Amino acid sequence: MHEVGEAIETILRVLKKSAERGYIGEPVSQLEHALQCAWFAGHTGADSELVLAALLHDIGHLIAPDAPQMDGLGVLEHEKLGGAFLLELGFPQLLAHLVTAHVAAKRYLTFKYPAYLRKLSEASKGTLAWQGGPMTPGEGEAFEALPDFDSILALRKWDEMAKVVGLACHGLDYYEPMLRTCLIGQGDHRC
Ligand code: FE
Repeated sequence: MHEVGEAIETILRVLKKSAERGYIGEPVSQLEHALQCAWFAGHTGADSELVLAALLHDIGHLIAPDAPQMDGLGVLEHEKLGGAFLLELGFPQLLAHLVTAHVAAKRYLTFKYPAYLRKLSEASKGTLAWQGGPMTPGEGEAFEALPDFDSILALRKWDEMAKVVGLACHGLDYYEPMLRTCLIGQGDHRC
């Protein structure tokens, strides 16, 4: 477990640096993608942990430069790396779980709605194959039974929306107090 100030510094440093990186196959940077995702979450009045999960959902792509890659489409299992990294920094279980589950949401939606699969961007179709493809009916049923199923799907929706060139939204500084409040609790707390 890290000290709160140190954890915030780590998060802000990683996200600031992501301004230099493109969001795989999309016309925005990783930082723009993260900020837009959080912006859409905040706009719907989502809870802090959901807003921060949106901000941090792709952090697994940014923290492990030597991890196995999906053939130019980002870090393999970035959702698990990201969730584990956030837990280690002291974020609540729920927030880390939302981050870990954001790829499963895509696998679920492509199983449930074949039209959704057809609408995915080429990059997203490419990563889906690496991520296990659409869920099986059994996996889909188990996924629907998760207590935070709605939040996971909401995060996935904002993730898809967050590719807008030049969208005006909050900068990183806006989230610093929210990060601090969220990290001040310990373990199984809510933000
Ligand atoms: Fe994303």
